[in-house]
Amino acid sequence: MKYSLLPFAAFALVMSQSCKNKSDSETAQKSYFDVSGMDTSVKPGDNFYEYVNGTWLKNSKIPDDQSAWGSFYTLYQENLNKLKGLLEEAAASKSEKGSLEQKVGDYYASGMDTLTIEKLGAEPLKPALAKIDAVTDHNSLMKLVGKFAASGEDYLIGYYVGADDKNSAMNILTMYQSGLTLPEKEYYTRTDSATEASRLAMKKHITDLFVLCGEEKTIAEKNAGIILALETEMAKSHRSPVELRNPQLNYNKMPVAELQKRSPNINWKELFGAIGISTDSVNVGQPAYYESLSKLLVSQPISAWKTKLKYDYISTNANLLSKAFITANFEFDRVFSGQKKQSSRWKKMVSRVDGGLGELLGQLYVKKYFNDTAKQRMDELVNNLQKAFAARIQQLDWMSPETKEKAMTKLNSFMKKIGYPNKWKNFDDVSIDRTNFFANALSVRMHHQKEELAKINKPVDRTEWGMSPPTVNAYYNPSNNEIVFPAGILQFPFFDANADDAINYGAIGMVIGHEMTHGFDDQGSQYDHQGNMVNWWTKEDGEKFKTKTTGLVDLYSSYTILDNLHVKGDLTLGENIADVGGLAIAYDAFKMTKQGQDTTKIDGFTPDQRFFLGYAQVWRMKSRDENLRSRITTDPHSPEMYRVNGPASNFDPFYIAFGVKEGDKMYIAPDKRAKIW
Ligand SMILES: [Zn+2]
Repeated sequence: MKYSLLPFAAFALVMSQSCKNKSDSETAQKSYFDVSGMDTSVKPGDNFYEYVNGTWLKNSKIPDDQSAWGSFYTLYQENLNKLKGLLEEAAASKSEKGSLEQKVGDYYASGMDTLTIEKLGAEPLKPALAKIDAVTDHNSLMKLVGKFAASGEDYLIGYYVGADDKNSAMNILTMYQSGLTLPEKEYYTRTDSATEASRLAMKKHITDLFVLCGEEKTIAEKNAGIILALETEMAKSHRSPVELRNPQLNYNKMPVAELQKRSPNINWKELFGAIGISTDSVNVGQPAYYESLSKLLVSQPISAWKTKLKYDYISTNANLLSKAFITANFEFDRVFSGQKKQSSRWKKMVSRVDGGLGELLGQLYVKKYFNDTAKQRMDELVNNLQKAFAARIQQLDWMSPETKEKAMTKLNSFMKKIGYPNKWKNFDDVSIDRTNFFANALSVRMHHQKEELAKINKPVDRTEWGMSPPTVNAYYNPSNNEIVFPAGILQFPFFDANADDAINYGAIGMVIGHEMTHGFDDQGSQYDHQGNMVNWWTKEDGEKFKTKTTGLVDLYSSYTILDNLHVKGDLTLGENIADVGGLAIAYDAFKMTKQGQDTTKIDGFTPDQRFFLGYAQVWRMKSRDENLRSRITTDPHSPEMYRVNGPASNFDPFYIAFGVKEGDKMYIAPDKRAKIW
């Protein structure tokens, strides 16, 4: 999706949660820590996550319209309610055409007008489907692909515009592998029952959508077989999620003429022309995909390609149509999410407006719900974390002074973004009509497309944000060397201006430390203080770092979920380094506060204990099996239990705070504990 907002190379705190839901009676408690959620029958040294969250895990129920439930979800649900109020107010205000309120309010209102949407049925798809019918050969197919891309719909090809990894001040067009319906290549070949079920679900999805567009059932079923076979061929050239984590491997800047030579059956000049792209050079993330696409375009029948393009088009736009279409998409998605029922229409629409017009809606959000006190307190926290990180770098026993100096330069160059952008984006070209939801969605899509293309080969705007203000998430972006914390996450249980330092440092402090450590994880460490992919390590230090991270890969690979599914230690390495480092830095920063030097108990816990309790509390999460199963293959973040127990078991002060001893299940011998940052 063009406006998933987060630049591709940036690392988020958690995977984006598309539509989160209804809160149970979870309310902020006076003590800022939910003692009643603990299970004190579990020894903290056996399973700290269960000790802190066991009773909550036992008693809380995942709402039917959710794939998981926990702090991130409850908070986002509260934000959705706030945004709904703002949108309803804007919609009722009858503001002047073209104003901020008119755009967000009427976009929302048009999406809530299900009477009109139902009446239209499959009608809005017809003009584009007719264009696909008129395709005669692979040349006209790719020209049409270009025209779709021009309006922000990417089929068969994938691309984004962002900072050039080797010249971070300038933007470059990057072509990305694309074309698959299932989450990643292994879904086309694995033979376990869950994967086979997902292929069957894909075929059903294809069949259902074609039938809804008026196709006969037997032909629709045949189409499903054709598309699955075609995608299975396309998947062969795809890189795996682990391979995609390697920034060097996925940087292949070349002249367009070179790309033309490598993929002769795609007329790149014509394709770029149709999209509206003018450039002589391009970064081809995964050249093998385009080489393979070029071959497949002629070796596979044109009828198969037309069928595939139709399916891509219909499924992409189904959520803009009647209930039957939306349900078909939901039935497919739930195979991976485990969601029992669809979320309410209003939630989907609030998310849609936030996703498409986030910096308009975000202005209303921060005006009403974000205050300067929170921003000041966050500034202070971030600065303290930075100081603590600096001290840790100076004390590292495995790194040479030479590399330390470079690391310090990088740390001191962090750009910090807190709350919301100083400069809001312009949406003047977006036109919103209260009576035409489909056209509104296209106008928003077009806007993002134009914004993206206008950046090609232009200087990077370092003030730009990759997440909307209400988002409950955070990220580090290596090419900008920046850490970003949207207003949405700066609330309880992550952060509360009235909470004691132990809780804030354990919760949001660890999040800040996590994002900072991303600048020094296995990927981030390959970028310098200006965001350029250059090696600033001495050879020896680089090797030591590599050895240390290998230990972490092995440890996390030993963790399991469900029926003995192993965490992928290599896929999650960057996040795990950030979790382990983040906890240590947050703790050191906490120890610099008054409470950090104190021993006064609250709720029967020492300040140090409360630090770890606050930390484990924000990561409590209950997930459906389907959700866990798909996350383990594609999500670079470890399951929440290991985001708590992994870092804690590698951190000496945790052992002291809870008297963890040899023989306890989480125990790791002192010389075996990961001490990277
Ligand atoms: Zn992260």
